[in-house]
This record gives sequence, C-alpha cells and structure tokens, in this order.
Amino acid sequence: MSNHRELPVLILGGGPVGVTAAWALARAGVRVQLIEREPEPRTDWRASTFHPPTLELLDELGLAAQMHAEGLTVPRYQYRDRRAGLVAEFDFTVLKEETKYPHRLQLNQQHLVRMLVERLADEPNATLRYGIEATDISTGDDGVLVEGRGPSGPVSLRGSFLIAADGASSTARRLLGVAFTGFTYPERFLIASTSADFRALLPDIADVNYVADPDEWLFLLRTVESWRAVYPVPTDQTYEQATDPEEMQARLQGIAPLPGGYEIGDRQIYNVHQRVADSFVAGPCALVGDAAHINSPLGGVGLNSGIHDAVDLSRRLARVLLDGADEGPELAAFAEIRRQVAVEYVQADTKRNTERISERDETRRQANHDELRAIAGDPDRARAWCRRASLLESVARFGIGLPPQDIRHRREAEAKSTT
Ligand SMILES: Cc1cc2nc3c(=O)[nH]c(=O)nc-3n(C[C@H](O)[C@H](O)[C@H](O)COP(=O)(O)OP(=O)(O)OC[C@H]3O[C@@H](n4cnc5c(N)ncnc54)[C@H](O)[C@@H]3O)c2cc1C
Repeated sequence: MSNHRELPVLILGGGPVGVTAAWALARAGVRVQLIEREPEPRTDWRASTFHPPTLELLDELGLAAQMHAEGLTVPRYQYRDRRAGLVAEFDFTVLKEETKYPHRLQLNQQHLVRMLVERLADEPNATLRYGIEATDISTGDDGVLVEGRGPSGPVSLRGSFLIAADGASSTARRLLGVAFTGFTYPERFLIASTSADFRALLPDIADVNYVADPDEWLFLLRTVESWRAVYPVPTDQTYEQATDPEEMQARLQGIAPLPGGYEIGDRQIYNVHQRVADSFVAGPCALVGDAAHINSPLGGVGLNSGIHDAVDLSRRLARVLLDGADEGPELAAFAEIRRQVAVEYVQADTKRNTERISERDETRRQANHDELRAIAGDPDRARAWCRRASLLESVARFGIGLPPQDIRHRREAEAKSTT
C-alpha cells in the first residue's frame, strides 16, 4: 500500500452532496477535508423533496429523525391539468411493505446542509475549509493535489482521493477533461415562494402537484416555510422582466386568484439541463451529484440521486482505505452503476416528466393524461410507478455501494432472468 492512502480524502464542494459524502466517510472512520468556495454554507432554494430510499440512507447516517421533525411528510402527489383539473393521484403509502419511509419528505436542501455541517464541526475526522476556490487539480501515484485560492492566498492540499461534488459547472470535471454530454432546455425555470396557502385557494390539490399546460405548465410544492410555484420563463423574457413584481403577481393570480394579492418571498431563475458526464471516474477522482449529472427538477430526483452517489462512493472508499479493498474494481463499479442509474432512471424519467407536463400537441396531451389515469387506476401499475418515481426500483436493482462481486452476481442473475 503506498503512503498516499494515509492522506485524507479531499471533497470539493460543500453543497448537499459534498457534505453527505464528508459525513458518511468521517463517520466510517476516514479522514476528510472539505473545500468550499463560499465563505459559509449556501442557502439557495432548489431541492425540497427527499424520496424513500434517500431517507433510508440518511437514517443510517443519523439524520432522518431530525429531518422528519423539521420537514413535511407527504405521501400523495398529483398530476393535474390547468384546464381539466385532477388527472391522477399517486400515493407512496403503497410502498409501505418495502420501505420504512413510504412518502416524500418536503424539506429545503439547505436544512440538510445545515444539519450535516453542525455534525461535521464536531467530527474529529473532518476538516471544513470554507472560502477556498479550487483552481487546479493534479493526480499521480501519490494521490491528488488540489490547488486554489483562499482568503489569505494560495492553498495546496494533498489527498488520497478526490470526490468532486462541485456542482453543475464543476471545475474538477473541466480540469479532468470529462465531457458533459446532453442539452439545455430553451426556457429557464422560475421558482417563486409565497406565504399564501395554495390549498386554501385550491382545496383539492395535494402538497406536491405537477400541473400540465401547453403554455403555462407549473409545479406547486408545499414546504414548511412556504408554498413554491415553479414555472417556465418565456425565452424572450429577461431576468428583470420575469421577476418584475407585477409580472410575478399576474402569474400567481393566474394559478389561483387571491384578492389583495400574493406576498412573494424568495425568487430565483434557473437554466435547466439534461446532461451526464461521459465518465464518473478519472484516476483517483470521482464525480458525484450535479458535477456528474444534471436534470430537470420535474420529479425531484436530482439531489436524491446525488446523495445515492455520495453514499455509494463513500462505502467503496471506506472499504479501500480501511479494509484494504482493491480501488480499481471499486471505482469502476461506482462509475458503471451510478452512470447507468443516471442515464436509465434519472435522465429518462425527468425528461419524460418534462415532456409530459409541457406537451403542446392536443392528441398527445390527452393520451398522456389517459395513460396516467390508467396507471393510477390499476393497483399493480400504480405500485410499479411509485417504486420507479421514488428511486426504490433503481436501488433495489443495483444496491448502494455493493461490493463489485455482488454487483457481478446481480448482473448475472438479471441476464439469466431475461433469457
Ligand atoms: C428549481 C430546482 C428544483 C430542484 N428540486 C429538486 C428536488 O425537489 N429534489 C431533488 O432531488 N433535486 C432537486 N433539484 C436538484 C438539486 O438542487 C441539485 O441536484 C443539488 O443541489 C446538487 O447538489 P450538489 O451538492 O451536487 O451541487 P451544488 O448544490 O451545486 O453544490 C456545489 C458546491 O460546490 C461549490 N463549488 C463549486 N465550484 C467550486 C470550486 N472550484 N472550489 C470550491 N468549491 C466549489 C459551490 O459553491 C457549491 O456550494 C432541483 C434543482 C432545481 C434547479
């Protein structure tokens, strides 16, 4: 064993995926150094849904109880149509035989980051380095060298491995020369939060609703702090026009008229992409979360799959660094399985969800609605739908962080069952 294995694992990016990897490794007994560009954890509004298998993983990491105490437990969600009303309702309670958490948990992602940073601050195996921007990465037989700029000048950090959790515009991905293949949607998405209670205005909606419309589709989600409406910004509208208070008021009044007007809180506009890194591993460096794959938020699975990446990789690196497992097959298994899940489940389903909600062709729109009604009306199909939408299916198929030989056995069994 070369001595670089004595070095800490470097984690680039202190978003929800990076801090999950840091906590999973540090708790397992591996030393980690987390490097984050911002001076403190970001509090941006993005993910708000945690799915059942993610909650099980976070339970193992000692977080599920606090998350449930702070979040909203939401078993039901709806597909709706702005003109026709309710199309189909799905209830994750049908998954109660196979998961301890048969619901979505609505909790804004910055709360997970806060909970993990609080724990990491007291964890002797973890060092958190805020205010350092990584600008260069080099790798060799002696591990990884990350160089960057900190508040008091240049910084160099050496590690055994690098976990690149530095988000959609990943510096690591670029420096490692890994392509990010896919496309960007022409329209941006605007998230607006309001203290108004949409359920008081639209009494039959659920806490999570995907609402189809050829022109003005949207999704409406409830969190503890507020309701959030997410809708597309026309391609010819500037940021200033889209976030103009009168324009936003008109969009929200179009969802449900509210005499006296909406109080509008946080607002953000995002570019939305469907992209996957060509490889999730380059030497001793591995890409996780948005650095490895990004997708439309329709379905709420981007961060969930990023957390699955982080736990999968952490289990493998813990075996390598603590139990002497061979790093080659472990990293290869991570790269192969997590990329396959990203492509076959996360990308495929979020793309389909986005097409379904924004379909303009009337015949296809009606066919989509008929299909959803038929699935929701058939208990076996509804259960299969919920297993897939919740990511339980992909986790049951591939596991999280299984040793390479177990994955090989599963693949062989899968091949036999399909011949
Ligand atoms: C509108 C919207 C709604 C969403 N809703 C959901 C949802 O309900 N459920 C879900 O699962 N997902 C959802 N997502 C996706 C989810 O928000 C992302 O998948 C998640 O934030 C990815 O986390 P991450 O840690 O990989 O990356 P990020 O959160 O982007 O964190 C990356 C971190 O790396 C740091 N960094 C970057 N470059 C450097 C550098 N060079 N040096 C040091 N630090 C650096 C950044 O400052 C940042 O803190 C949504 C996304 C959007 C846009």
